[in-house]
Amino acid sequence: MDKKIRVRFAPSPTGYLHVGGARSALFNYLFAKKTGGTFILRIEDTDQNRFVENACKEIYDSLKWMGLDWDEGPEMGGSFGPYVQSERLDIYKKYAQELLDKGHAYRCFCTPERIAAVREAQEKAKQPAGYDKSCRNLSKEQIQENLDKGMPYVIRFRIPAGRVVAFNDRIRGNIEYSSDILDDLVLIKTDGFPTYHMANVVDDHLMEISHVLRGDEWIASTPRHVLIYEAFGWEPPEFAHLPVILSPDGGKLSKRKGAASVMDYKRGGFLPDALFNFLAFLGWSPGDDREKMPKAELIDAFSLDQVSPKASVLDEKKLEWMNGLYMAECSTDVIMNEVLPVWIEKGWVNATASSSDPRLVSIVDIMKIRAKRLTDLADNTFYFFVDPVEYEEKAVRKNFTPASKVLLETIHRELTAVNDFSHESLEALYRTIAEKTGVSSGQLIHPTRLSISGVSFGPGLFELMELFGKETVLRRIENAIKKIA
Ligand code: GLU
Repeated sequence: MDKKIRVRFAPSPTGYLHVGGARSALFNYLFAKKTGGTFILRIEDTDQNRFVENACKEIYDSLKWMGLDWDEGPEMGGSFGPYVQSERLDIYKKYAQELLDKGHAYRCFCTPERIAAVREAQEKAKQPAGYDKSCRNLSKEQIQENLDKGMPYVIRFRIPAGRVVAFNDRIRGNIEYSSDILDDLVLIKTDGFPTYHMANVVDDHLMEISHVLRGDEWIASTPRHVLIYEAFGWEPPEFAHLPVILSPDGGKLSKRKGAASVMDYKRGGFLPDALFNFLAFLGWSPGDDREKMPKAELIDAFSLDQVSPKASVLDEKKLEWMNGLYMAECSTDVIMNEVLPVWIEKGWVNATASSSDPRLVSIVDIMKIRAKRLTDLADNTFYFFVDPVEYEEKAVRKNFTPASKVLLETIHRELTAVNDFSHESLEALYRTIAEKTGVSSGQLIHPTRLSISGVSFGPGLFELMELFGKETVLRRIENAIKKIA
């Protein structure tokens, strides 16, 4: 293979960039980086009805956040631009004219009403739906007459009859379609805009795309594209259709069933590197038991041959687990940048607080190794800053009993007497209290934890106590004792 590798991610700006799209972008990116190729971003915005304001910006922001930087495309430029299809309309018109001239395309003057009536009749007769080709063989004179009358028209591709259209899919192997089931598809619409098929093929050719890596839902378009390449006399790129992504319950991924946007994951407290790693495994695996693979390792290991045609399930639990691994390793600075503004907004921390404040740094350090999401650090850290006023109900029933009240009073007395509030010495002290009172250390630890944090889970108790300091711990235990009374 001596052809230069050029791949593209070609989203339509019809909404957010969801995980399926991000997975396609990511596979293109990995393939380009692995092979020393070029990763191109192209915006396919020729369907004016589906256009959504700001969708392009959302796509750019999402890709950048995930570290999927493109080599050519909007904002980056490149020598094959423009990379936004609505800026290339003249190009598509010129190539449509070429197909008209060669007889591979024809003008169709059928009105939307007629097309609808044809469809209705086909449905009634239980025939396959499709254009009935009535304008296929209009005479030159008829065409001219219609044009003179200013009748609107579309340009349709003349699908050759009785052909077997075959292409080799890098993931699925050889695929064949009979051309007889293919409709004479529209290339240029009445408004002069190209359809997806036309613009996609022309651009993939002009942008010298070597490999088309796209979602499985486009596979039925490929035989049409192959015929269009052939009509132009162009060599088609290689195709690889990426496997379907299923929602956790096995159905097709949809907005309601887990097809969150990339930005939803950002807001949900996921780290971009974790999402990157996770998406790479939707349909691909390195062929060994590695799962946590940072970007550079993924690039190094990536190969199209390891992409499976089997559907893959989006398992959010796994994503959370993976995010936890990345959180634990993530630098305190990066996490601090995310959580400090939230703490300030909640009024827990002074607006002038510094991100290098040793106490805040300790909170991040103690929490990041057990958090699954960044949002855990924002939501589950209140007790570092404010005294609990409510206590976890279930834990109260177990740990705020008359017996634990007596123990808490003992603990309070013992703690009042100590000066060394390091976690080591606190741990030793609790051991001594347990021996003296003849209870298990759990019977001391659980009520203490609930008293000082209001919840039954979190970092090690003695580390927490050290961080809170003597005054706070004593005050909170007193409050809890009152609460039990
Ligand atoms: N514009 C199409 C999309 O929104 C691109 C499909 C393709 O990659 O050919 O997914």
